[in-house]
Amino acid sequence: MSEVQKTRVTLLAGGVGGAKMAEGLAALDDIDLTIIGNVADDDAFHDLWVSPDIDTLTYSLAGLIDRSKGWGVADEGNRALDVLKTLGEDTWMFLGDRDFGLHIYRTMRRGQGDRPSDIAADVARAFGVGPKILLPTDDIVQTRLETDIGELGFQDYFVREQCKPDVSALHYVGASKATPTDEALEALALAEIIVVAPSNPVLSIAPILAIPGMTEALKASSAHKIGVSPFIAGKVVKGPAAKVMASLGLRADSLGVAEQYQGLIDILVIDDQDKALVGDIEALGIKAPSCDILMKDAEDKKRLARQVMDWALSASCEGGAE
Ligand code: GDP
Ligand code: CA
Repeated sequence: MSEVQKTRVTLLAGGVGGAKMAEGLAALDDIDLTIIGNVADDDAFHDLWVSPDIDTLTYSLAGLIDRSKGWGVADEGNRALDVLKTLGEDTWMFLGDRDFGLHIYRTMRRGQGDRPSDIAADVARAFGVGPKILLPTDDIVQTRLETDIGELGFQDYFVREQCKPDVSALHYVGASKATPTDEALEALALAEIIVVAPSNPVLSIAPILAIPGMTEALKASSAHKIGVSPFIAGKVVKGPAAKVMASLGLRADSLGVAEQYQGLIDILVIDDQDKALVGDIEALGIKAPSCDILMKDAEDKKRLARQVMDWALSASCEGGAE
């Protein structure tokens, strides 16, 4: 029996929203999935290099994720962190006992001079993850936020300050001098479909595209390009996208997402509840088919992934979900 040719799909993804889309796509057996993740939330804690978005992808696809939180490992302990606290370390960044093992391994390999991309690939393989998880760059790129209480690193803003400060500007520090990985450029060039996950446009997707060569590779790719909005009924499911986008003077809804991706994608899948925005999104040259884009469980993820594939491959998006 000859093997059916699989469709090559490349997903641009952040953490929680990205991982949900990744799980849906990974559940389809007729696609060959490659994911380009975000490294701009990476930071050092207790001298260990932590890569939250890449780990969320890895843990989700490995089935180890804590489903109630959407991040971190299920069945975690906090004994290591308790020891650090007793020793006087700042422990506002939660790192579980099992999670610590991965950070120790990553830091050890980086210390040995190994490529971060190779480390991520080895970790994914060891955890039994099928799809390829690629880094957009092996260089350090970190989002910093200018806020009303001063300049903050991403985790300082997100975890320690709980997204309370107003944000006036974002900087992807290191991005302009970073080199894209050959694997990520190739994944964009060879893809038949490129999917932009329902991730935070300014904190997860923009730092990937800020790496020189990545936006150009996305534009140059002959793939069908389709995004899924992280906004439903004008609100985010989770996280600071609405707050940060509004604070930056951007529209915090699916039209605002379309404005961010104008010239980069052909289709933006929006929720049925946001149909009123279709005309304005289509005026940007982006088709805007709608369906239920909330992913509550494995079924939802697979259903949405199938719908995204169908719309990406169909010349027109007429008719909506069947
Ligand atoms: P982070 O790095 O963990 O913040 O995750 P991402 O940037 O990948 O995704 C964050 C976005 O995911 C948020 O803006 C949410 O609105 C969005 N999101 C989470 N769950 C869902 C869902 O089920 N459906 C859709 N459409 N978006 C979701
Ligand atoms: Ca993130």
